[in-house]
Amino acid sequence: MPYLDNNATTRPLPEAADAVRTALTEHWHNPSSVHRDGQAARHALEMARADLAALLGVTPRTLTFTGSGTESIDLAIRGVLGASSKNTLITARTEHAAVRDLAEHLEQTGRAGVVWLDLEPIERGGTVSLDSLDAALADHADTAALVSVQWANNETGVIQPVAQIAERCHAAGVRFHCDAVQAAGKLPMTPQKRAPSVSDGPNGAQPIAHAPGSAIPQNEHAHAPDLLTISPHKFHGPKGLGILHTRQGVRLRPTLQGSQELGRRGGTENVPGILGSAAAANAALEWLAEDEERTRLAALRDRFERAVLDACPGAVVNGGGAPRLWNTSSIAFPRLEAEALLIAMSERGLAASAGAACSSGSLDPSPVLLAMGIAPELAHGSVRFSLSRFTTDAEIDEAIEITAAAVARLSRSSP
Ligand code: PLP
Repeated sequence: MPYLDNNATTRPLPEAADAVRTALTEHWHNPSSVHRDGQAARHALEMARADLAALLGVTPRTLTFTGSGTESIDLAIRGVLGASSKNTLITARTEHAAVRDLAEHLEQTGRAGVVWLDLEPIERGGTVSLDSLDAALADHADTAALVSVQWANNETGVIQPVAQIAERCHAAGVRFHCDAVQAAGKLPMTPQKRAPSVSDGPNGAQPIAHAPGSAIPQNEHAHAPDLLTISPHKFHGPKGLGILHTRQGVRLRPTLQGSQELGRRGGTENVPGILGSAAAANAALEWLAEDEERTRLAALRDRFERAVLDACPGAVVNGGGAPRLWNTSSIAFPRLEAEALLIAMSERGLAASAGAACSSGSLDPSPVLLAMGIAPELAHGSVRFSLSRFTTDAEIDEAIEITAAAVARLSRSSP
């Protein structure tokens, strides 16, 4: 049955599951132990760190293993603010709750001043306004410590102009954290030298030229974020692991004390999770080498959208005017409740989500969609369909049929 909820989580690859099992049976020793078996676990862990660094195009030593994407984001934001004498955080209301709720908490408890960036109008995709970022960096030049903007949105797939944000932050001497949880494993992790546009298609990167033979890894150059978060369960790895890349020279105050991870995050490392994630990263890197694959899957997603829009009068794609991830489709069905639709679709075996999975069960419309300027009644009726690189034509055919039937049935009973 069609599983179109891959932005919530993905099915682990067999090679990732095998690597987890091997770690549990062969490398169960503590990687901090000095004995031979402990050192074998350390060696396996460091090899895995190198594989994960390759996915991001960064130096292995810059990666810190944590317990989740949420924890990596927390470490990035609290860690930079805690190590700085400045305390203004600049971010946007379209961020995932891991960033947005933390920013609201820091603001409400007086631990940080938060500047919420303006967004471009919805017709232009609702990305963060670079003019608003320029103004925030100028107005808060004395206090701004950190900008946090995601690479791609979990609900709409909208892609932010990461390189342009990085350039501005570097020029202002302000650190830039990017939540790349939804982008990693789906797009090459090379920021584009010009802002992404719809006409770029799904293939993502226009690599930024850097000196041939340069010792600086590609993603530690001037157009790249200083800190970057990823979460392997979003690219067919196991849950329970988050990764934070911190460019060399960025000061971070740890939130969990301990000697592990160069003192950046205390706690015995999750060796099975790390080895499983490295296997998933290697597979993702191989898959990313084939540009045509992303084009093929974007065409599948577009076919799904066209068929659903044709079958459901009034339905619209949220963020349809912006550059988007090839896998995500957020569709608003006017006059319907997303929860009712999800239940009707689930009864026929189609798995999708309303807004972020972590807020499903709540009847509040998605704060991300509202922040983008989408009317509350449309936000209430918005469903997120998210493909994986393994989604098949047959699954999409079935998903179209189930969605159209569920919308027709509920529309008949809707007042
Ligand atoms: N950031 C984004 C954009 C996400 O989609 C998610 C998870 O849905 C997270 C952060 C949190 O990651 P995790 O589930 O590993 O805590």
